[in-house]
Amino acid sequence: MISNSKPCMSCGKPLRGRSDKKFCDDYCRNNYNNQLKGADGKLMRNINNALRKNRNILQSVLPATEDTAKANKEKLVAKGFSFKYFTHQYQTKKGSIYYYCYDFGYLPLDNDWFLIVRQSEKE
Ligand SMILES: [Zn+2]
Repeated sequence: MISNSKPCMSCGKPLRGRSDKKFCDDYCRNNYNNQLKGADGKLMRNINNALRKNRNILQSVLPATEDTAKANKEKLVAKGFSFKYFTHQYQTKKGSIYYYCYDFGYLPLDNDWFLIVRQSEKE
């Protein structure tokens, strides 16, 4: 057997055998892959939840009968809005940037006010 100085990527024990080995055995390999999937999955779930929550908050402040509404930052934050997360941006010809959470978006106005909009189907 050739000794191998690299540690197992899962449990950290020194590996023995072929130099291209990354894990002691299938158990360590599965463990490692599951941990990776778990962590990624959790992060993605958290982000998706934040985006969905943002979208629902925007929807809740924009009456179905209106095209736009105004809300201040305090109100949005109190509802749990997270400005860190949005799905896409839309820049108008004048240079205003709308931030969207799926089909609802906002345009930052002066003094921590926001214009809340629904994405039109044309865009
Ligand atoms: Zn191992």
